[in-house]
Amino acid sequence: MTAPDFDKLAHDIKLWARELGFDQAGITDTDLSLEEPRLQAWLDAGYHGSMDYMARHGMMRARPHELLPGTLRVLSVRMNYLPFEAGFAATLRDPSLGYISRYALGRDYHKLLRARLKALGERIEARCEALGWRPFVDSAPVLERPLAAKAGLGWVGKHSLLINESAGSFFFLGELLLSLPLPLDQPVEKAQCGKCVACINICPTGAIVAPYVVDGRRCISYLTIESDEPIPIDLRPLLGNRIYGCDDCQLICPWNRYADASPEPDFRPRPNLHSPKLLDLWGWSEPEFLKHTEGSPIRRIGYQRWRRNLAVALGNGPADEAVFGALRSALPEALPMVAEHIEWALASLAARQQGENRKTRLLIRCIEKGLPDHA
Ligand code: SF4
Repeated sequence: MTAPDFDKLAHDIKLWARELGFDQAGITDTDLSLEEPRLQAWLDAGYHGSMDYMARHGMMRARPHELLPGTLRVLSVRMNYLPFEAGFAATLRDPSLGYISRYALGRDYHKLLRARLKALGERIEARCEALGWRPFVDSAPVLERPLAAKAGLGWVGKHSLLINESAGSFFFLGELLLSLPLPLDQPVEKAQCGKCVACINICPTGAIVAPYVVDGRRCISYLTIESDEPIPIDLRPLLGNRIYGCDDCQLICPWNRYADASPEPDFRPRPNLHSPKLLDLWGWSEPEFLKHTEGSPIRRIGYQRWRRNLAVALGNGPADEAVFGALRSALPEALPMVAEHIEWALASLAARQQGENRKTRLLIRCIEKGLPDHA
C-alpha cells in the first residue's frame, strides 16, 4: 500500500473547507509551549474572573494532543460573520436602543461551524483509513487564537483577537484535530499592530490592561455574557447601551476596513435583535425571551442575566417617564439580583434627570441674563 501524498491531501482539505463555506483554513502542529507561561500568568492574575473552567482545563488548553491522543496536526479554520447591514454606529449612538455584538444577531454559530467541521472530518476520513479527528468550536479546552496564528490565519492583535490582513477580525474560528502528518503552514511573520493602540484607548471599561492582555473581569463581553454575578457598580455606566457583548475594540481597528460581509444566511440579523428598542426588549416575558432567542447564542445567558443587562442599559439611557414606569412596575416580580440592578437604574436615571434639570435651569438663567450659553 502506498503512503498517502500528504501535500496533495492538505491541498484538497483546504479546498473542501472552502466548499463547506469556510473562508480560510491552515495547518499547524500541536506545540503551544510558548503560550503556556502567558496563559499561566493570565490565570494567576485572576483575569479569567469566574470562568473557572478556564483554570480547570489548565495547561491542557495549550496541549491539544492531550485532548485527543495521537493528534499530530490542528486544522484551523475561519468563517466571516459580519452581516451586510451591521448598523454599528446607528445602534450605539441611540441610547434608547440595545446594542448586541454583531456575531450574535443571527443563528448560533456553534452548531453551524461544528456541523461543517464534522462534514470536513468525514470527508477526510473517507480518504484516510484509521484517522483520528475531533472538531472544536469556541471551545474552552483549546487555545484557538494562538493555534490559528500558528496556522497562518493571522496574528493576535493587542485586543487579543485574531486579525487577518485581508479580512480584519470579524470571523469565527474552529479547529479540527487530526492524526495525520500533514505539511505545516507558516505563521504570519509578525503581529502588524505596530504603534497602534486604538483598541486599548477605545475600550469602554479599560479591559485591555496592557497590549495583548485583557482583564476578562472588565470586558463587557464577560460582564454581559459569561458572568452570572451582579455587574460591578463602577462599570455599569461604562456599558452604555451594550446589552450582549461589545465590538468596540474591533470597530476601531484599522484592519477591519478589509472585513468582508458574510453571505451565510444563518448569520443574517433577526429583525427584532438588530437595533431593538430597549423598552420593547424589557417588555418580553420569559416565554417571549425564549421564543425570540430560539436558536440564537443569546438564549444561553438566560432570562435573568438578560434582564440584568437590560436594566443597566435602561439606567444609562434617556430619563423619560416611560422608562421610569417600566422599571418600577417590574420591581415587585424581580428576583433579587435583577431588582438590585433595577434600583440602580432608577437611581441613576433620577440623578441624571436632576442633573439635566440643573443644566436646563442654568441655561434659562443664562438666557435671562443675556449671558453666552455655557450650560
Ligand atoms: S486597534 Fe490597533 S492595536 Fe488594536 S488590534 Fe487593531 S491594529 Fe492592533
